Amino acid sequence: MSEVSDEDFAEILAQTRHFVRAAVVPREAEILAEDRVPDDLRAQAKNMGLFGYAIPQQWGGLGLDLTQDVELAMELGYTSLAVRSMFGTNNGIAGQVLVGFGTEEQKSRWLAPIATGDVVASFALTEPGAGSNPAGLLTKAVRDGSDWLIIGQKRFITNAPTADLFIVFARTRPADEQGAGIAVFLVPADAAGVEVGAKDAKMGQEGAWTADVSFTDVRVSDATLVGGSEDLGYRAALTSLARGRVHIAALAVGAAQRALDESVGYAASATQGGTPIGSFQLVQAMLADQQTGVLAGRAMVRDAARMWVTEQDRRIAPSAAKLFCTEMAGKVADLAVQIHGGTGYMRGVPVERIYRDVRLLRLYEGTSEIQRLIIGSGLVKAAQRQA
Ligand SMILES: Cc1cc2nc3c(=O)[nH]c(=O)nc-3n(C[C@H](O)[C@H](O)[C@H](O)COP(=O)(O)OP(=O)(O)OC[C@H]3O[C@@H](n4cnc5c(N)ncnc54)[C@H](O)[C@@H]3O)c2cc1C
Repeated sequence: MSEVSDEDFAEILAQTRHFVRAAVVPREAEILAEDRVPDDLRAQAKNMGLFGYAIPQQWGGLGLDLTQDVELAMELGYTSLAVRSMFGTNNGIAGQVLVGFGTEEQKSRWLAPIATGDVVASFALTEPGAGSNPAGLLTKAVRDGSDWLIIGQKRFITNAPTADLFIVFARTRPADEQGAGIAVFLVPADAAGVEVGAKDAKMGQEGAWTADVSFTDVRVSDATLVGGSEDLGYRAALTSLARGRVHIAALAVGAAQRALDESVGYAASATQGGTPIGSFQLVQAMLADQQTGVLAGRAMVRDAARMWVTEQDRRIAPSAAKLFCTEMAGKVADLAVQIHGGTGYMRGVPVERIYRDVRLLRLYEGTSEIQRLIIGSGLVKAAQRQA
């Protein structure tokens, strides 16, 4: 059961839609050119509670459940994806580790400032050589008296350049029969030995920043070990990522909807030899494929979110939704460029940005190949358990 009534949620959704379409869409060119979300948009998002929409109300968040989260994400996907990314880690992969696995003390210390956006939290799992296979991570946490020393290297960490808190996955021992040997720690960005590298130069999502983060003998107390257990890290990472996949799928649907709207608008008005290109049946066929993909994606996202909330399926459906919707958004964006002809290849035209923005969705929080492996192996294992 969500903490937010349908009536209250309708208001939050309407406000978010208005923010996206009236405040952010007109600023897309500025976000792209400056590779930065303007401070006033950040402040508006903060005032609306968007840094903590998925954090429970007890900790100062809006308390949306995943069925509501995806409706919001479909609105946020309609514009520069950098805006969602600004508060994506607080609500999603980083914040949900604390919500799901933190001790009461850890939640009291961190969740309220995460929900308001006074603290930006980053999820630091990926390393060189440990992306698709996080179980292979090498960052270690070594006991030193009652403290831990964290030593290692992370890469591609979203919001690292602005982070106040890193949720750091580190190995306390080699994997054994007891588990993966991976724990998760709450490491303040200003702790001695934490170094954030230069902002990465990316293909798209201008205004969303990632960077390497290195940890050189970073001393943290035992109180920073999430859940007070050395064995929670791997499960916390997988659970947070699985939930995040439904959210990313919704974001992809929002971006695809925008690409479709831009395509329909262009097809209805641009002409060749005096004829609107939208009267050509081959152009109509492209619009039809885009529309069909968006409708299928939206239905799938809503179904996957419902199955997450009811706990009917927290494994296969999130991966299937992410796989289908992010691949669909890639195809819809590609068709959008095609419908725009040469115009679609020009900087400053929304579909050119969308084409680059959505490419990332098939890579992070598990590549499409990894989603296929999760779905396929999950089906086979379930059949074997029943046999
Ligand atoms: C912009 C951006 C933001 C990111 N933000 C974060 C973040 O905030 N926190 C974080 O921890 N990480 C983050 N990541 C990392 C992201 O999750 C990884 O890049 C992603 O999981 C892929 O890992 P990799 O880059 O190491 O590629 P690899 O795992 O090396 O994959 C390379 C190719 O091999 C394939 N492959 C790998 N293993 C298998 C297999 N077993 N079977 C079949 N095919 C396989 C992949 O599908 C892919 O096609 C971010 C990445 C980017 C680009």
